Amino acid sequence: MGIRSSGKGTQSKLLAKHLKIPHISTGEICRSIKDKDTPLAKKVKKYYDKGILVPNNIIIELLEERLKESDCKNGVILDGFPRSVDQAEITKDILKFDQVLALKVSDEEVLNRLTGRRYCPNPKCEAIYNIYTSPKPKKEGVCDKCGTKLAERKDITREVVMENLKRYHAENDPLLEYYKDKGILTEINGEQTIEEVHQEIIEKLKIK
Ligand code: AMP
Repeated sequence: MGIRSSGKGTQSKLLAKHLKIPHISTGEICRSIKDKDTPLAKKVKKYYDKGILVPNNIIIELLEERLKESDCKNGVILDGFPRSVDQAEITKDILKFDQVLALKVSDEEVLNRLTGRRYCPNPKCEAIYNIYTSPKPKKEGVCDKCGTKLAERKDITREVVMENLKRYHAENDPLLEYYKDKGILTEINGEQTIEEVHQEIIEKLKIK
C-alpha cells in the first residue's frame, strides 16, 4: 500500500522479481483494457480517466480472472488492491495475505515529489527532473542535457495533490488500521533511496 509517488509500483515489482512470483497491479489491469472496444472496457475507462475508483464488482472480477492464471499458483505481489475496507472485506475469503506492506511517505514529501516534477519538452530528450527532490536541474528551469526550458504538468497543482491526499487518507487510513488489527501490517519508510526501501522490505519480511 502506498500513495501515488510513494514508490509502491517500483517496490512491488522489485519484490516480485526477488521472490520470482508475478506482480499484479489492478491499475495496470485497468490501463491494459480501458481502450479496448468492449462494454466492460468502456465502463473501466469512464472511471479510470477521472482518476476515481472503478466499482468494486468490476475491479474484483478483473482481478479474479487474472488470479486464475497458472503463474499465480505460488502466490503474487498484489499492488493497488484492496483500496478500501469494503474491498478487503468482500475479498477476504479469496485473498489470503501473508503480509501487507505500507510504504510511509509524509504528506509534505508527497507534495514535493509531485509538484516538483519537471520535464524537458524536447521530444528528442524528455529528461525528467524534480526541483525539490532529485535529480535537480543544475541550472534552474533549464534541461541539463539539451538546454531546453523545462516544463511542468499543468494538471499536478498543489490543490490537486492536496485533494488527492485527502481522498487517499479517507480511503486508506481505515484500511491500515484494519490490517494492523489483524497483525499482518508491516510499515516501511518510503523516504529512502529505492535500494534502501527494497532492503528494508527484505529485512522486515525476513526473506533472503
Ligand atoms: P493506480 O495505477 O494504482 O494509481 O490505479 C489507476 C486507476 O485504476 C485508479 O485511479 C482506478 O481508476 C483504477 N483502480 C486501480 N486499482 C483499483 C482498485 N483497487 N479499486 C478500484 N479502482 C482501481
